[in-house]
Amino acid sequence: MERSRVHVERGCDLELLRARAIHQRNLNLSKRCALITGITGQDGSYLAELLLEKGYRVVGMVRRSSAENFERIEHLVDRVELRQADLLDQLSLVNLLRDVRPHEVYNLAAQSFIPTSFSQPLLTAEFTALGVTRLLEAIRLVDREIRFYQASSSEMFGKVQETPQRESTPFYPRSPYGVAKLYGHWITVNYRESYDLYACSGILFNHESPKRGREFVTRKIAEGAARIAAGLASELRLGNLEAKRDWGYAPEYVEAMWRMLQQDAPEDYVIGTGRHHTPREFCEIAFARVGLDYRDHVKVDAALLRPAEVETLLADASKAKSTLGWEPQTSFRELVELMVDAEIERAQRAKARASGS
Ligand code: NDP
Ligand code: GDP
Repeated sequence: MERSRVHVERGCDLELLRARAIHQRNLNLSKRCALITGITGQDGSYLAELLLEKGYRVVGMVRRSSAENFERIEHLVDRVELRQADLLDQLSLVNLLRDVRPHEVYNLAAQSFIPTSFSQPLLTAEFTALGVTRLLEAIRLVDREIRFYQASSSEMFGKVQETPQRESTPFYPRSPYGVAKLYGHWITVNYRESYDLYACSGILFNHESPKRGREFVTRKIAEGAARIAAGLASELRLGNLEAKRDWGYAPEYVEAMWRMLQQDAPEDYVIGTGRHHTPREFCEIAFARVGLDYRDHVKVDAALLRPAEVETLLADASKAKSTLGWEPQTSFRELVELMVDAEIERAQRAKARASGS
């Protein structure tokens, strides 16, 4: 008697669980689904936030690692689905697409740091160039209706052939990263033209935020200024202070990625602010924000100069403005100050931890 009641209750639980699973599956099927490669990166985390707000089911592709690296998406882990696959492994990509059946794929994963591309050029090509073909091949095999976004880069303009740079400006990359991105760009165009895929290449100029990788110059300066002001460091070593970059605010740039995939026809777009500044100007504003003069703390270190430098980049994003209705909102000064303010908070937390309070 007792045993059969338990059996019936377990049976009910199972029924309930099954019904819930079917309900969840139906909910998932009725939502638009986006797959993001590189979800643990700066842009991936902002794009996931944006797509969740828009009601998407968001699946993030992560590569296997011995320790989880989910710092940027900690606040989202309950709302996104994380699946393991790797841009180096063709079969893992095919299986992932078969399993998830996304409507949109955003390929943000890459080896994205230029100095590393000089020291590891072959690995950079595997991820950043051939990885794009592997993903496009997976789409071609599994579902040609999937809309595809490729994260291309202003680094493809490199030694610039005209100023400002627009979609038709000839490319001249100056690093293994830039060369690999150029391959990714052209293979995206080629699959669009060969197989009629809805595939777009977003040629994004530098975009920054408190979630930017720590080795990039903006985050490095913001962190350096805050730590020096907090007494946690005394100097900041940098390379070329005179290069010009068109720096924008990353959360605004992921909106442009999404808009590219909502048009009638797939095209490529330049995204940037149309203004450029130097690391020296970034230093001036960042150190002033914490009441210091950068000239007392910044040291130029020749070891940080690059074998070949991109001296100047400046976007002409008028096509994005007229077609996508996209325009940047955050000024350079606002960007520097918000990044420094975030680092001041981080430095204060580090100081509190060090003093045990
Ligand atoms: P990040 O370097 O912050 O993120 C890169 C992401 O790629 C990480 O999630 C990383 O995962 C993932 N990744 C690297 N290799 C692999 C692999 N083999 N398989 C799976 N995942 C991998 O880059 P951003 O967010 O700044 O940039 C996003 C994309 O946009 C990149 O492709 C970048 O090159 C491009 N871009 C960026 C610009 C910018 O100013 N930020 C400008 C123009 C283009 P993990 O956490 O495991 O390392
Ligand atoms: P990039 O445009 O993708 O190379 O973005 P970075 O933030 O890495 O570099 C932007 C510019 O800052 C480049 O011209 C670098 O040479 C210059 N720069 C100067 N000092 C540094 C430094 O210490 N670190 C980095 N990453 N860049 C530096």
